[in-house]
Amino acid sequence: MSNWFRRRATKLIRVGNISIGGGSPIVIQSMTNTDTHDLQSTLEQIKRLQEVGCEIVRISLPDIECAKLVRRIKESVTVPIVGDVHFDHRIAIEAIKNGVDKIRINPGNIGSEAKIREIVTVANEYGVPIRVGANSGSLPKDLTSLPRAQALAEAALREVRTLEKFGFENIVVSVKSSDVLETIEANRYIAKYIDYPLHVGVTEAGTLYNSLIKSSMAVGVLILEGLVDTLRISISGDPVNEVIAAKKLLTFLGMRKGVDVIACPTCARSVFDVEKVALEVEKILSNVEEDIKISVLGCIVNGIGEGKNADLGIAGTNDGVVLFYKGEIVGTYKLEEGLGKLKELTRTIVQEKLKN
Ligand code: SF4
Repeated sequence: MSNWFRRRATKLIRVGNISIGGGSPIVIQSMTNTDTHDLQSTLEQIKRLQEVGCEIVRISLPDIECAKLVRRIKESVTVPIVGDVHFDHRIAIEAIKNGVDKIRINPGNIGSEAKIREIVTVANEYGVPIRVGANSGSLPKDLTSLPRAQALAEAALREVRTLEKFGFENIVVSVKSSDVLETIEANRYIAKYIDYPLHVGVTEAGTLYNSLIKSSMAVGVLILEGLVDTLRISISGDPVNEVIAAKKLLTFLGMRKGVDVIACPTCARSVFDVEKVALEVEKILSNVEEDIKISVLGCIVNGIGEGKNADLGIAGTNDGVVLFYKGEIVGTYKLEEGLGKLKELTRTIVQEKLKN
């Protein structure tokens, strides 16, 4: 894993058994999209998220009933749970008393400072951190004359100062825009004024393609600038995709162990269905969190070089495929035999990595 860039120095904030900031590895978050009242569906989704590598799960708490369900959720899962609360401070307080690990509030819609103080008092008592921040969809009116990135950061700073006024510093901050450049600029701006960890993401990033591109650009740039302490890649649809995307982003930036399946786009030279084989290899490796590089190339034009640089490689030849294992040619095979051997060796690599 690479460590060639410097992470911003931040406070360390504990969310259940996970640490955010203070030099901790970047934490992957996602959020359920079930009705929290439907305990069974919500628990199932939290468990699916945890299984694919989600380290903190946020749930919506629209009412007191949901806040009370936090206790039952906490009894059933080990991943830290963040309660997302708007408008009603009593929900936040109830969630904290029922064991939530972090609260996400927007002080602007909670109402009076007295209500915020009530939340802060209970959060302090239970050692529960609070995430505050601003989204491009909910900027205070008096800031709208500023450039939007600055307005976002100033709005979030205002919320931070409100909590600090009550002596509360157990804070995580987010400034999220649905625009890539605004997200980057807003995070750069706020990072100059606070040392709380930053929760970074593009808000309402859209469906799979849109989100993957927007999030990779915005979050990727900010990761490389050392500003990201925890991230969510927001994607419309199954939140499991958010976690898979976040893991891949961190892996491809050298921030954590993971699998890289290199595959060519294919052309007239390709002698087999590269996409199908690459997808099968990805599936075999889907739960592996080890540094493994596998190359799947349709012919030998680039296939030999890539194969030699990978843990395992396959490339098409005139009459079949050639396989590489740890930089050496294993042999040439007829297509079907070669594909079978590739899958066998993929499983062997997984076993080896898991043993070490
Ligand atoms: Fe075409 Fe071969 Fe390049 Fe794949 S590796 S795109 S098959 S030239």
